[in-house]
Amino acid sequence: FPGAPGTLRDVFTATAAFAGRDAFVHEDGRITYGDQLRLVAHLARHLAGPLGVRRGDRVAIAMRNHPEWPLLFWATQVIGAIAVPLNAWWTADELRYALADSGTTVLAADGERAAVLGEVPPGVAAMLVVRAQGPLPPGADDLSARLRGWTGPCDLPDGGPAPDDDATILYTSGTTGRPKGAVGTHRNHTTNLHTMQLAQAVQLARAGVPADLLTAGPVRFQQLVPDIPVPSALQTYPFFHIAGLVGLYIAAGQGAKVSLMRRWDTERALRLIETEKITSATMVPTLLRRLLESPLRGKYDLSSLLTLGAGGAPVPPDLVDEVGRMSGRAVSPLNGYGMTETTCVVVSNSGEEYYDRPDSVGRPVPVVDVAVVDPVTGKDAAPGETGEIRFRGPHVVRGYWNLPEATAECFPDGWFRTGDLGHVDADGFVYVVDRLKDVIIRGGENVYSAEVEAVLFEHPAVADVAVVGVPHRELGEEVAAVVEVRPGTAVSAAELRGHVARRLAAFKVPTTVRFIDRPLPRNAVGKVLKRELRDMLAL
Ligand code: ATP
Ligand code: MG
Repeated sequence: FPGAPGTLRDVFTATAAFAGRDAFVHEDGRITYGDQLRLVAHLARHLAGPLGVRRGDRVAIAMRNHPEWPLLFWATQVIGAIAVPLNAWWTADELRYALADSGTTVLAADGERAAVLGEVPPGVAAMLVVRAQGPLPPGADDLSARLRGWTGPCDLPDGGPAPDDDATILYTSGTTGRPKGAVGTHRNHTTNLHTMQLAQAVQLARAGVPADLLTAGPVRFQQLVPDIPVPSALQTYPFFHIAGLVGLYIAAGQGAKVSLMRRWDTERALRLIETEKITSATMVPTLLRRLLESPLRGKYDLSSLLTLGAGGAPVPPDLVDEVGRMSGRAVSPLNGYGMTETTCVVVSNSGEEYYDRPDSVGRPVPVVDVAVVDPVTGKDAAPGETGEIRFRGPHVVRGYWNLPEATAECFPDGWFRTGDLGHVDADGFVYVVDRLKDVIIRGGENVYSAEVEAVLFEHPAVADVAVVGVPHRELGEEVAAVVEVRPGTAVSAAELRGHVARRLAAFKVPTTVRFIDRPLPRNAVGKVLKRELRDMLAL
């Protein structure tokens, strides 16, 4: 693309072209791109002026998906500060740990987080609070009041970051252990934005749009092809997760309208699709399942949807079929595979290719190398053979903040070791079979938990399921399934075992089936916490 932006500041500056469009639809109103530009300029000057934030200083954001989150984020990027998004589900101890770990000097929190913390945390020089609930902690500043006062025009302050400056410290989801702070540069993020735009152009080219229009770049492109609507996205991932953050700047790159939800609500999501004419929505598979299987689905007009995606956790193939059934294949299913350390999606599958290969996460994006290696020796696996997936390229972050050992271990020779097992077929399609830490080794045979889960999801009585290994005296490990049964249905352990036995080898059939009547334990992004299930089953 001509004039490709080098930093996130450049991405933000370019949103001036969309000044009249809605940027965010939130629970109590709307913000246009023009409003956003003005408020970010004031806020950036406030950070760089009175608060003394310099290039490379850390500014943490601890909020739910309120519209102030992007304002804070862009303000940090405009002045070259490092944004530290904090998980809004964290306890006071977890928040304090990440603040100290990142060496944050300015903290912006919503009222709920301010209440959780109760005081300005040690080491933090300034605490800004939006949407205060009750009195502010002593010494904290009411940012909502300031935002209301910043009504006049304002230019962005001069200066800003260079492409190889650090832009973000994003903590991993903590699915397998303590979250690690992945340090992403501007170049990581802008390359990611370009590859996403390229992927979109490829999709449009396949749909018959002439190539000379595509080279005009995404902004011009929408002007040239008026029947393609202004993109309207449903933001389901929290902004503090890499997928949420990436959703934010992809939308900014397109001038898309983004609908926010403070927390997931299936009916509200369906209603927003209808009222805001949502064109794309991507979410963790469990939320996509709730959306597709909601009894309220038929009440709403979902015909504006062009893509419906899932990622962040294994996507059972039956979900792809369901998207096809719902839309007569008019909606493109999308799978995005990636991680915090690769600045989100590095492999993706969509459209007819995905309908044809619903068990594949797709092909790598053009600028990323993928390797499948023996996890122990590090030697390349033979084609088609299963091994650990590794990535190399401009999307891969430079390492973990303050963790030299984990950085050396996980980023050997410029590659990132994902900790995921998979293989690549002759056409270049990638298949993720399981996380290394979730593979069950039963009497010397490998059982991939995700494979058994996908089969169990096909049973009509299964609402949700997770498969984990539990210790066994002779076999080492045994296969156990934890099942939430769909309300109004009944099923026995024997029937579920029979269902798996008809589809998979005998050693993959769960010996233990535990029924639970509450939701599976999940983290803030919606990933199952298998550590907790193993502990539960060990009791
Ligand atoms: P932690 O690293 O702290 O244990 P995490 O790995 O869950 O947490 P993320 O970076 O949010 O943190 O998630 C990346 C992981 O999520 C991948 O390594 C993979 O295991 C899983 N994942 C993401 N997208 C997909 C997908 N489309 N299909 C299968 N698995 C996926
Ligand atoms: Mg991980």
